[in-house]
Amino acid sequence: KDILLEVNGLKKHFPIKKGMFQRTVGHVKAVDDISFFVRKGETFGLVGESGCGKSTTGRTLMRLYEPTAGQIIFDGKDISNMKERELHPFRKDIQMVFQDPFSSLNPRKTVQTILREPLNVHGMYKGKARQEYVEELMEKVGLNPAYANRYPHEFSGGQRQRIGIARALTLNPKLIIGDEPVSALDVSVQSQVLNLFKDLQDEFGLTYLFIAHDLGVVKHISDRIGVMYLGKMMEVASKKDLYADPLHPYTQALLSAVPRSHPTEVKRERIILTGEIPSPSNPPTGCVFHTRCPMAMDECKQVTPAYREVKKDHFVACHLYK
Ligand code: SF4
Ligand code: MG
Repeated sequence: KDILLEVNGLKKHFPIKKGMFQRTVGHVKAVDDISFFVRKGETFGLVGESGCGKSTTGRTLMRLYEPTAGQIIFDGKDISNMKERELHPFRKDIQMVFQDPFSSLNPRKTVQTILREPLNVHGMYKGKARQEYVEELMEKVGLNPAYANRYPHEFSGGQRQRIGIARALTLNPKLIIGDEPVSALDVSVQSQVLNLFKDLQDEFGLTYLFIAHDLGVVKHISDRIGVMYLGKMMEVASKKDLYADPLHPYTQALLSAVPRSHPTEVKRERIILTGEIPSPSNPPTGCVFHTRCPMAMDECKQVTPAYREVKKDHFVACHLYK
């Protein structure tokens, strides 16, 4: 299948400024040299504990942040250094659904105003056609179009996230980045919203980058999964491969925490990681995971493991695989 998004050696470092003259005294290496690709029509799950850089990755891909280094190739074009004017046509192709539907929707605007805004910005649809389009969008995401004049607070959490999804869909994007889009919802609502994502993907041929903090949430929705830790990509594989044969010790630990959803699944021994996640402003030398890795060797403290394809379509950064 064709590749829609290719990320090569992407870095996003934020300066740490101190004192009266705001001197730069260091950098938070939020995203530090990651590479992966997303194929057209698939769902790529990006997983890791909070602070691992997955949200920063999403925002940098949307060019809400300027990349520090590396390449973002979207639909065959390198968008990593484009200026705002050049980026404008791409802005509609990549949309984001945020974690918190409460704060990402303007409380003073009606649903219909919220959904019309992106259409105004990009000059799509006018008059009656616009009205019909907004109603159609509401139906697609399971909202009653009769409520178009209501405000976000008049809807439940799940419905509000449906508004967020409708807003992301208005411009007919190619890629939707979901930044933990179900984390703030009740468990009973989560699966409904995940099913909606799945249905919309089938209907519109959408590609998803789905950010989550645990492997449980992305399990059903993802085709391929990337695991991040402290700004680095630890492992990328198809979901099937990752669950059947996790290679990286960090992935193995994360997977051991996911409850089995079927009795035929392999029973995994729980791996408890000890120690805190180190600060991304002062990451460990060598392999950034070595301070918590149950398999760490001497080499791991000195040498950063290369990120390599060790099996077909299965990438890992770990000295255990050479
Ligand atoms: Fe563990 Fe070493 Fe592999 Fe890092 S490189 S994950 S410390 S074994
Ligand atoms: Mg986040």
